[in-house]
Amino acid sequence: MSDGIFDVAVIGAGASGLMLAAELDMGYSSGVVLEGTSSIGTKLLMSGGGRCNITHGGSIKDFISAYGEAGAKLRRCLYRHNNQELVSWLEGVGVQTTEEDGRIFPTSMKARDVIDALVEEAASNMWQIETDAKVSALEKEEDGSWSIELKDRGWISARNLVIASGGITYPETGSDGSMLEILKGLGVGVTETRPALAPIFVKDYPYEELAGISVSDVEVTMKAARMRGDILFTHEGFSGPAILNISKFAEKGGLMKIDYGKSLEELPKRMQRVMRDRARGDSGDVRTKLLESLLRSDEFEIEGVSERGMVTSGGVMLDEMDMSSMRCKSADGLYIIGEALDADGITGGYNLQMCWSTARCSADDLRERLGR
Ligand SMILES: Cc1cc2nc3c(=O)[nH]c(=O)nc-3n(C[C@H](O)[C@H](O)[C@H](O)COP(=O)(O)OP(=O)(O)OC[C@H]3O[C@@H](n4cnc5c(N)ncnc54)[C@H](O)[C@@H]3O)c2cc1C
Repeated sequence: MSDGIFDVAVIGAGASGLMLAAELDMGYSSGVVLEGTSSIGTKLLMSGGGRCNITHGGSIKDFISAYGEAGAKLRRCLYRHNNQELVSWLEGVGVQTTEEDGRIFPTSMKARDVIDALVEEAASNMWQIETDAKVSALEKEEDGSWSIELKDRGWISARNLVIASGGITYPETGSDGSMLEILKGLGVGVTETRPALAPIFVKDYPYEELAGISVSDVEVTMKAARMRGDILFTHEGFSGPAILNISKFAEKGGLMKIDYGKSLEELPKRMQRVMRDRARGDSGDVRTKLLESLLRSDEFEIEGVSERGMVTSGGVMLDEMDMSSMRCKSADGLYIIGEALDADGITGGYNLQMCWSTARCSADDLRERLGR
């Protein structure tokens, strides 16, 4: 790696870091993407079960509510680099897309094709991608540049720094939250992190034998939220879109209610048997009442959520950021993009869209800053 000073160093070669490099032509400037693990885009490769649900279809206006409270703060960035623009851009770099039930995928249904296209663009934009380059410390120098310590490899310098280090879940992919700790040390505000879009475990889970069965269009309620959608029974607990989307509101010891919104006969056969067993009572009347209450309000005490969340709730506070440029207000030359931010969406391609949009907004600002 060069001993000189890089114009831009990006920490993390996931969806956001690779998109930034694919979008920003470095020309005569120098740029490096530092990836802590030995391979790039590992989480992107897992996305959508390997098929990569790139974004959602329809109007970008409808995206805002998918991010809860963060939506209003993300609006400007999402509007500027929206889903339609993304699809055209991807098609321009050779990734054809297909819409399925509102979700957009590469037509090949291969996340690998998205990564390959991003890497090819990054290379033609003259970026250097360094793997096994785990950042272990950052220091802001008096001349405004950044000193970056790479584990077992010494220090390098950069004038501008982009944090694209992701969240805390699936730490084996390299997204282990280590950069969030380093940012805290620099005085950047970071909210508490927890897994989101994760299966939920409950006390006395009665549906182990129904693993693999799903029920469509149910309503799941917790103290702080209500979601409608499909649920899936697993060996250990509840999953499926409605559960994943509500999981970030799950509190240990809190109550979760499920309204199946169906008669017993409309439920899957094996589930009917389990429900009848659960509604055992002394008399026929009692059994009917118990069954009715199970169908309308099946109540569970929450034990916790799986650590295997598809995304992280929490991260760098959006109030710390200029949300047009993705510049951190408290440190000059510091940009933060993607899942490292305190913003997460429901399932359906919204999380990757947030990565693409924030990366492309930071590229706009860096382009201007580099005088390109
Ligand atoms: C199983 C699964 C399925 C998913 N499916 C979808 C889907 O279909 N659609 C969707 O929209 N979203 C999906 N998501 C979420 C989506 O994949 C992520 O939100 C997105 O990939 C995050 O991108 P990122 O670039 O911000 O972070 P990441 O992809 O996590 O990349 C961060 C990179 O930074 C590196 N890094 C971290 N710390 C350091 C350090 N100190 N030094 C150097 N490098 C470091 C990591 O090794 C990693 O490569 C899914 C997630 C999972 C886990």
